Amino acid sequence: MFDRKTIKDINIRDKKVIVRVDYNVPLDEDLSVIDDARIRLSLPTLKYLKENNSKIILMSHMGRPEGKSEKRYKLDPAARKLGELMETEIKKFDDIYSEKIKQYIDTIMKAGEVIMLENLRFYPGEKSNDRVFSEYLASLAEIYVNDAFGTAHRAHASVAGVPQFLLAVSGLLLEKEVQTFSSLLESPEKPFLTILGGNKVSDKILVIKNLLNKVNALIICGGMTYTFLKANSLEIGKSICEEDQLDYAREMMELAKKNNVDLLLPVDITVAKEFKKNTELKIIDIDKIPTDWMGLDMGTKTIKLFSEKIKSAKTIFWNGPAGVFEWDRFSKGTKSLAFAVANSKAVTVAGGGDTVAAIKKYGLTGKISHISSGGGASMELLEGKLLPGIEALEKKQ
Ligand code: AMP
Repeated sequence: MFDRKTIKDINIRDKKVIVRVDYNVPLDEDLSVIDDARIRLSLPTLKYLKENNSKIILMSHMGRPEGKSEKRYKLDPAARKLGELMETEIKKFDDIYSEKIKQYIDTIMKAGEVIMLENLRFYPGEKSNDRVFSEYLASLAEIYVNDAFGTAHRAHASVAGVPQFLLAVSGLLLEKEVQTFSSLLESPEKPFLTILGGNKVSDKILVIKNLLNKVNALIICGGMTYTFLKANSLEIGKSICEEDQLDYAREMMELAKKNNVDLLLPVDITVAKEFKKNTELKIIDIDKIPTDWMGLDMGTKTIKLFSEKIKSAKTIFWNGPAGVFEWDRFSKGTKSLAFAVANSKAVTVAGGGDTVAAIKKYGLTGKISHISSGGGASMELLEGKLLPGIEALEKKQ
């Protein structure tokens, strides 16, 4: 359950509102926005504030400029794109600390107007959650709104610092994201299936442990597969493996048994001679991996098996590709997962940069119930953590 106040629970009419958004959008070489999904996701909150005549002060980060100004990370392209989407002019400032900005907000800015500050990460105080930086940002407004789910797990100034000094509430995107993941954890319709892929077991340790108490079935695929296979004493050849996670993988397989969770690993895989896109490949059963080959995708039998499992689930969460999907010849597993999840009748939730990119690549975005805007933040929620950006918001009575 989401137990924090949102913009709809307080009076924001005619107020100065500082909104943390996540406009960390990809830009092309000409510094134009390639994908405006994150900007679009903030529109419901901004429209609501505009309708209520708030003065809207936006703040965001973009990229990793490490505390100093860099032209390629300026927020002007994001401001222009937002202006197009809202059909209004967005005044974009080139800095954050400036008397000019305060004066503008207090004397010139109109009700319903939107302005944008420069990239928060041009200032070291953002990442270090500096008190003075937070207090200054708070001094620009009367109310703080967090609608940046993608950074809600970071205890940075604009996420955890500013809300200490103002009435702090959630935006509509943050609310929707947290509600989605809370219902996955608290009241999923069963059978609940989770699919975890990607490279590293170590990134997903806490998620696997927590989800093994919630799900009916867990599919492990992608690069993580081989740590689990090796933990089962199988030969994995040159496939990637985290030797220091073997005990953990064994422990998780035990826990799955104890909790009656169906833990599924691939039964056959596509192996390659080298880690190269045009290398020789073949499909073999998992107990026949040659010592000098490496697994880079699932095999045909696995695709069938996992697709059947997906069909019978009522709730599905998916994070992480099933192979090196960036290369066409090793993308069949990920593609089949994407189609199976998209075509299932279950409530489907997907998160993580690669997973979302795969879903987009196959044109399936509209067929997933919820695509999360925060890979890292959603994984931390599924670990059972309270995120700093949520903890900082006013509780509902
Ligand atoms: P992650 O960042 O942990 O979600 O991992 C995503 C990356 O894992 C993608 O770039 C995939 O290419 C890569 N990946 C998936 N399966 C494998 C594999 N079997 N061997 C090596 N890399 C893989």
